[in-house]
Amino acid sequence: MDAEIIGVGRELLLGQISNTDAQYISQKLSQLGINVFYHTVVGDNNKRLKEVLKIAVSRADLIITTGGLGPTMDDLTKETVAEFLGIPMELHQPSVEQIEEYFTKRGRRVSQNNYKQAYFPKGSIVLPNNHGTAPGAILEHDNKIFIILPGPPRELQPMFEEHVIPYLEGKSSEKIISRVLKIYGIGESDMEEKIKDLLINQSNPTIAPLAGASELTIRLTAKTSRNEDPYKLIQPVEEKIRERLGDVVYGIDDDTLESVVVNLLIESGKTIATAESCTGGLIAERITSIPGASQVFLQGVVAYSNQSKIERLKVSKETLAQFGAVSQQTAEEMVKGIIETSGADIGVAVTGIAGPGGGTKDKPVGLVYIGIGDKNGFLAVNRYNLLGDRKRVQQSSASLALDSIRRALLNGDIG
Ligand code: ATP
Repeated sequence: MDAEIIGVGRELLLGQISNTDAQYISQKLSQLGINVFYHTVVGDNNKRLKEVLKIAVSRADLIITTGGLGPTMDDLTKETVAEFLGIPMELHQPSVEQIEEYFTKRGRRVSQNNYKQAYFPKGSIVLPNNHGTAPGAILEHDNKIFIILPGPPRELQPMFEEHVIPYLEGKSSEKIISRVLKIYGIGESDMEEKIKDLLINQSNPTIAPLAGASELTIRLTAKTSRNEDPYKLIQPVEEKIRERLGDVVYGIDDDTLESVVVNLLIESGKTIATAESCTGGLIAERITSIPGASQVFLQGVVAYSNQSKIERLKVSKETLAQFGAVSQQTAEEMVKGIIETSGADIGVAVTGIAGPGGGTKDKPVGLVYIGIGDKNGFLAVNRYNLLGDRKRVQQSSASLALDSIRRALLNGDIG
């Protein structure tokens, strides 16, 4: 099945918003094995939208529109699709009730305009909107499928997951599933070298490596008939890749370094606290972004000045005077200090020079010390020379710290 995605809206044409709906839908369709050959964007204009629809039906079987379902006059997607296909609009009573309920719950009055959102091209399957007022619709006509969706991503995405995917799966004789392996701590070329033969001989699943800013991913995509399980094809290839790459594979799909760390801490029943200088709280922020972090994260101290390292983390004046704030010794004392003052099982500390100023010949911008330790006396500090601007050095330091915790927990070094 070949698809075209039509984004409707002036804001898209003026560059005021990015077409993230098309990006999202394309990703989902590719997982369903549906080819997306065109993304089109058109303003809220009846004549031009009809021109675009005419081209789309000539080259796609599935046409998905986004946006233009609101209550105002210039929201005209449904009406234009109906007019283009020569189908009348029809009132959909359950949508009337849903819209009334949406407004009543929020203590607002339904305006006459809002009832416009309950009209659909005759014969539509109406898709309820649980996050807004504009329902979507699916319409089959002359061997073509039209799917009409609201613009706001927070409305479109749940509608797509709950209604569009099951509908499209029912139309397809194939099943396509992807698994993404998340990788940290190896360069792109090293990784490719290790799995070169697998890449060359790939068939089903396909193996697609991708390099991000600081992480790598490998997407495995398997295609089977509807009654087979694509994971059966993915599993042996995944195992081979894991064997070759080892513990740089830190997770799958939506896993992040911080989610893996939080889950490992929850599993082991250990608590953690952070002492951060150059990362300014970034590690704590990433840990606390994970649901369930409250079970394991006790506190984060941002000790930026020397004075606060002394007062909050008990780093000694002598250490700071003799070795400087960015040093192995200070990092060690920060780890010990955060464990002692917080009472956590595990402590992590970062001190470094994020730049652009502050570097010297001996201690250049990008020099970072990351320390981890535990209550039982384990203590390890690593020194890194990181590249990039201030933001990049901070992000990389936070990722390295999280990865150090992950590895130490997996190896049983800390806890
Ligand atoms: P509503 O029911 O809120 O009126 P709608 O279906 O009429 O939604 P539009 O009015 O076209 O949608 O767009 C509403 C908002 O949705 C936009 O301001 C924008 O924030 C978001 N939006 C619209 N189209 C896209 C798109 N293609 N990608 C990302 N966001 C979009």
